[in-house]
Amino acid sequence: MSDAVRLVLGDQLSRNLASLRGLDKDQDVVLLAEVMAEATYVPHHPQKIAFLFSAMRHFAEELRADGILVDYIRLDDPDNTGTLGGELSRAIARHGACRAIVTFPGEWRVWKQMRQWQQDFAVPVEVKDDDRFFCPIARFRAWADGRKQLRMEFFYREMRRDHQILLTPDGQPEGGQWNFDAENRKALPKGLNIPAPYREEPDAITAEVLALVASRFAGHFGKLDGFFYAATAAGAARALDHFIHHGLPLFGDYQDAMAMGQETLFHSILSPYINAGLLDPRTVVAAAEEAWRQGHAPLNAVEGFIRQILGWREYVRGIYWLKMPGYADTNALNAHRPLPDFYWTGRTEMNCLAQVIGQTERLAYAHHIQRLMVTGNFALLLGVEPAQIEEWYLAVYADAYEWVELPNVHGMVMHADGGYLGSKPYAASGKYIQRMSDYCTKCRYDVKETTGPTACPFNALYWNFLMENEGRLRSNPRMGLVYKGLDGMDPAKRDAIRAQAGRFIAGLVPAYPATGTEPT
Ligand SMILES: Cc1cc2nc3c(=O)[nH]c(=O)nc-3n(C[C@H](O)[C@H](O)[C@H](O)COP(=O)(O)OP(=O)(O)OC[C@H]3O[C@@H](n4cnc5c(N)ncnc54)[C@H](O)[C@@H]3O)c2cc1C
Ligand code: SF4
Repeated sequence: MSDAVRLVLGDQLSRNLASLRGLDKDQDVVLLAEVMAEATYVPHHPQKIAFLFSAMRHFAEELRADGILVDYIRLDDPDNTGTLGGELSRAIARHGACRAIVTFPGEWRVWKQMRQWQQDFAVPVEVKDDDRFFCPIARFRAWADGRKQLRMEFFYREMRRDHQILLTPDGQPEGGQWNFDAENRKALPKGLNIPAPYREEPDAITAEVLALVASRFAGHFGKLDGFFYAATAAGAARALDHFIHHGLPLFGDYQDAMAMGQETLFHSILSPYINAGLLDPRTVVAAAEEAWRQGHAPLNAVEGFIRQILGWREYVRGIYWLKMPGYADTNALNAHRPLPDFYWTGRTEMNCLAQVIGQTERLAYAHHIQRLMVTGNFALLLGVEPAQIEEWYLAVYADAYEWVELPNVHGMVMHADGGYLGSKPYAASGKYIQRMSDYCTKCRYDVKETTGPTACPFNALYWNFLMENEGRLRSNPRMGLVYKGLDGMDPAKRDAIRAQAGRFIAGLVPAYPATGTEPT
């Protein structure tokens, strides 16, 4: 008989988790379960599944080493029901528990399940707030209440004040301004020394998980070879340290740059650890601020990095819980084209897309500008059905969970929320990719051409997007300049662009729905 079964989800691997507080080692049991439903609700990248299963197994070992009773259900345990609810219900019965304790989940999908458990189970299911964020959901709601526009920049300033981050003693922003983004858009110079990303060799637990994932999820998009993620809080702390020393000083300058063969540049690759609970965002922000105070990194880099975590990360979570469940259903640009099959194969002659999708397949990682301005921009310009591209992003990245993926894709990339998150779509022609990367130098298409057999497809798609969405976007004051450009265009050129885009779109092969792979 035990008092409570305390369920810990795969993205809740934090020792200070709310549902682990007050744990009685003599009375309580902690439940972790590898279940098929979670591994397959979208076809997750095998490295993402391996990272999470390995991190869960390591976390269970750490709890056991502290004398905590852990009930760990492996994916291939013969009685595994395959669902979180099934495993929690079995554990309650097995341990004769009087209650279950869970922490508020990251996804609406799981929240719905938890509310169902509260109705169905014979014992109470207590849900604790997830307080591993800077901004509680209620605090975000209070901030959003009555505002016409929810600008990230204003929210971020409040977070800086609330948490006393990068402030002078009299409460002003360090360096005299809140945001140094204007200094953070440099193209990468030749010959710059770029740090290798932090990597850990798989230990015995990870090696066993890699074998399991290879045998059970071979059909999912993504390679397992070269798996480099750490699987413990200690490993995540080493990754943070590596970034602070090697990446942070130039993070700001080259934040938006992209380069062939340099997939990670000066980015931190910390999101999988932060999102799974192995690294506390407060620790990350404090380490970055300290690096600046000690003179190890410049303010534009440190402010830019902190803004991503204290600003964007908290803001998108706030938007998600404010607007769900209806948020996912909007389609403001009425986009209905299917996702092209090359998103799941990487086989395309457009070098920028082949590069980003190829590295995604190898690493389960792409940095922000690659996600926003290459795979995202293309889906926006093409007019892909939001749900199809959302499924892709949720599946292919090691850091993907709906609370963070959905606002980024639905709002920031696809403008499907009508401008709630971003005041204008991030639509760009090939020129942007040419400016910020070297992809165009090795492409079969010519980025300077808009029509003709070798023209860069982004160019015709860009103008076509503006024409297709003229009724919806022309009145947007931030789109005035680009529509002026369209107005100045000769009608014959417009027709030629429309025809070019039409031919290109007609030549695309749609992906199989839902998994992107041919059903077996
Ligand atoms: C289309 C699209 C989809 C995305 N999907 C996800 C996702 O599923 N999961 C995810 O964690 N991030 C997502 N992001 C945000 C961002 O791209 C990743 O957090 C970042 O690329 C992770 O790499 P990094 O750790 O090297 O980040 P860095 O560039 O080093 O940034 C530092 C940290 O800031 C946070 N961050 C940065 N930008 C954002 C943002 N826009 N929203 C939330 N957090 C941010 C992350 O925690 C990241 O680790 C998405 C962005 C876009 C444009
Ligand atoms: S030419 Fe166009 S398709 Fe090719 S890499 Fe450049 S932007 Fe991408």
